[in-house]
Amino acid sequence: RTESSAELIRAEEPVLAHNYHPLPVVVARAEGAWVEDVEGRRYLDMLAGYSALNFGHRNPALIEAAHRQLDRLTLTSRAFHNDRLAEFAASLAELTGLDMVLPMNTGAEAVESAVKVARKWAYEVKGVPADRATIVVAADNFHGRTTTIVSFSTDETARAGFGPFTPGFRVVPYNDLAALEAAVDETTAAVLIEPIQGEAGVIIPDEGYLTGVRDLTRRAGCLFIADEIQSGLGRTGRTLAVDHEGVVPDVLLLGKALGGGIVPVSAVVARREVMEVLKPGEHGSTFGGNPLAAAVGSAVVDLLRTGEFQRRAAESGVVLREGLEALVGKGVVGFRARGLWAGVDVDPAVGTGREISERLMREGILVKDTHGSTIRIAPPLTVTEEELRSALGALEKVLTA
Ligand code: PLP
Repeated sequence: RTESSAELIRAEEPVLAHNYHPLPVVVARAEGAWVEDVEGRRYLDMLAGYSALNFGHRNPALIEAAHRQLDRLTLTSRAFHNDRLAEFAASLAELTGLDMVLPMNTGAEAVESAVKVARKWAYEVKGVPADRATIVVAADNFHGRTTTIVSFSTDETARAGFGPFTPGFRVVPYNDLAALEAAVDETTAAVLIEPIQGEAGVIIPDEGYLTGVRDLTRRAGCLFIADEIQSGLGRTGRTLAVDHEGVVPDVLLLGKALGGGIVPVSAVVARREVMEVLKPGEHGSTFGGNPLAAAVGSAVVDLLRTGEFQRRAAESGVVLREGLEALVGKGVVGFRARGLWAGVDVDPAVGTGREISERLMREGILVKDTHGSTIRIAPPLTVTEEELRSALGALEKVLTA
């Protein structure tokens, strides 16, 4: 007898760390934009693994690339070369308009690695005195969960109890060029921002902010690090969120969808002069750049090269935006959307984000709340407009019921 959802949820309780509060759905299989629970109930996945599943669950091209690689070679460590890494790095550099790739596994690792690269660049190239480098970040950022990264978080839930913290970070308000300008000085190694703040509730800065950050960092002689771990790889209707302003950062951080929802793959992608501060032995990862990750990552880049997913996100994004506009005043107090990505502020009188997410779950739609009364919508980019409309219909139903 297979166990029920309720039994499986109960079985987790005593043995699994309580660092998440998942919706009470136990997924057993998935395909495209749909997941199925252990009782065979189907749900439309409107979260897509926080954008790790941009190409859909078990995307056939990605599954095939993974299978082919599984049958041949999975891990060498970087003690040896493997025959997949050159292609992956070259194709990712070409896709992003940058020069060199540092392959890692998770998003947080990519952020950590970029902090190290930026600091080393500051000492060796910019000439910042030893141990004086600073990195300027934005309030309400989300860059991951390591001790250094939570050191510059402004979210008390993410920080409290985890000190002592790593020094060397300055926090300024997001979307505020004057504050950024005031915080940058001769010690600044880099400005690290999300071009759209995902976890904060899909906060989109004013037009011109990213261009302003690019100009300011260039003038100040520091690096612009764009964390596109959630915003990148098609989600916003362009390959990268910075593409909306035609801006190229010095350092780009990718993760999530880079692994196709199959394996963890992240990368720091940078200009040659920056990445070349790393010398043998100074940084590494046992699994970073493994052949399975490289094969899946290359297949992801191949999908993005077609432009199909960016186009789908842009086109279906219009349906999403129009659907949400129609709900403003009907349980929605406001929303922000770009491509197939939206943060929707629900009227607290109608319910918390959590309650709305639970009601949507009972309607067969999976989303996740963030920060009290905001729900985040980020379906696989393969979602059809009909599926999107049905999700919007369910949202209207639970908001107005
Ligand atoms: N950076 C951004 C912008 C993110 O949204 C996330 C995850 O949500 C991360 C970094 C951390 O990625 P990971 O959970 O793979 O460590």
